[in-house]
Amino acid sequence: MSKQTLGFNRALGDMAEALNSDITASEKLHLLVRATARALGVRGCSLMLLDAQRMRLFHTASHGLSERYLKKGFLEVERSLTEVLGERVVAILDVATDPRIQFQELAQQERITSILSVPVKIKGEVVGILCVYSRTRREFTAAEEQFLTTVANLAAVVLESGRLNEVEMRPREAKDEPSSHPTPLTSQLKPATFAHPSEEDFARLLDFYQIEWIYEPRSFALQWEGKATEMFTPDFYLPALDLYVEMTTLKPGLTREKNRKVRRLRELYPEVNIKLLARRDYDRLLAKYGHGPLAGAKTHGVGRVLLSAPQVQKRVRQLAKEISHDYEGRHPVLVGVLRGVFCFMADLMRYLTVPTDVDFMAISYYGGESGKAVRVTTDVGINLEGRHILLVEDIVDTGMTLSFVLSHLKARNPASLQVCTLLDKRVRRLADVHLNYVGFEVPDEFLVGYGLDYQEEYRNLPFVALMQEEKPESQVKDAKKHLR
Ligand code: 5GP
Ligand code: MG
Repeated sequence: MSKQTLGFNRALGDMAEALNSDITASEKLHLLVRATARALGVRGCSLMLLDAQRMRLFHTASHGLSERYLKKGFLEVERSLTEVLGERVVAILDVATDPRIQFQELAQQERITSILSVPVKIKGEVVGILCVYSRTRREFTAAEEQFLTTVANLAAVVLESGRLNEVEMRPREAKDEPSSHPTPLTSQLKPATFAHPSEEDFARLLDFYQIEWIYEPRSFALQWEGKATEMFTPDFYLPALDLYVEMTTLKPGLTREKNRKVRRLRELYPEVNIKLLARRDYDRLLAKYGHGPLAGAKTHGVGRVLLSAPQVQKRVRQLAKEISHDYEGRHPVLVGVLRGVFCFMADLMRYLTVPTDVDFMAISYYGGESGKAVRVTTDVGINLEGRHILLVEDIVDTGMTLSFVLSHLKARNPASLQVCTLLDKRVRRLADVHLNYVGFEVPDEFLVGYGLDYQEEYRNLPFVALMQEEKPESQVKDAKKHLR
């Protein structure tokens, strides 16, 4: 038996053992790519998966490639790789001259010369590719192609069992619910267990919005003494936002430690985006969708008035003046997302001096506790093709609702699409959305009034107020005196 064949056998043996162990799906995939790179004696190996739209490929598990290379952006399926996705093995002899390479310069800096890729298929359907990168110019042999194809099949098994785990984790009644969206592939890497329940809550929230996520995707070395002596593995990576998220815990000591690590990571890897999310942040996030400890609070009340009724009205008039000026002669369609926006929309429209159409859409987060998607429950009735849309929002928080709604509206081919929001909770933004008109920037607090509710209450307040937990009933009544 040749030395290489022995190496392949050993690698496949290690992989089989890993697949049969109780490590997480993402750990299994990392082991597969590492063992593959070693067995083939190449610089690196990467498993790239297609996103839900099958438009882009992103590195999901990789070995031997620099952070810089991995973060080079996603591969656009249109531009290259159509061959692999067409279920073929693709060999690139020299990245410097091959037109199929999207990041030629970076690949050269990374000292990659030849690449071999094979499709990763789950039950016949291509879900991604497995690539190996060689420093030297290399013509891969048929035996090497065969080996890589075998590893691709093993990776598919891991991905497939990830999908099974996910179904098992859902409550029984949600299992049969038809999903209008395919499950994002990254969610198939959902680990069998999360280190902390709050991480599972967060993953669920991301699923609501169809935001792709990968759990503990990558470890960063923070200190070296010859080899890495301190590593940091952020909890999540959100490919669509190119953002790492680390959850903090309730233990203050640990939080300090995490803060230090995040600071250090930012120093060492300035191109990496990372956000620290505190427990109270995602409790509040989840509360909006009816989940978590804050959502179930029985006694509650209105706290301080943040924006008085006259302040709100004055600002709405100013916004209307700007909008009237900008939309002169364009007869825009105002589109509001129900229900929080109805007060603002009504006032804004009455202050506008240009003729407008008005329509609303409603969305819901469906699937209950295990919700999988944002769904449009009532769509805009007006034909939006070629129209100038002004999307009117009550409040933009993480920006995830807005980015969903915007892509929905864009699909209807308007002539233009702009956003006006009364309130902007900018500090909490996760999705990168552009706001054209903003009434007020507001702090990171739960707000009620002027259309905004807490469990359907407080919408009728003419001002915007801070919501407080555990307030006695009498204070609620006090707050309601401001009504006139
Ligand atoms: P996002 O997707 O930007 O995180 O959330 C936007 C939606 O969450 C808003 O349209 C609104 O319905 C709700 N929301 C966000 N922040 C608040 C808040 O402070 N109070 C209330 N009542 N709703 C909020
Ligand atoms: Mg809203």
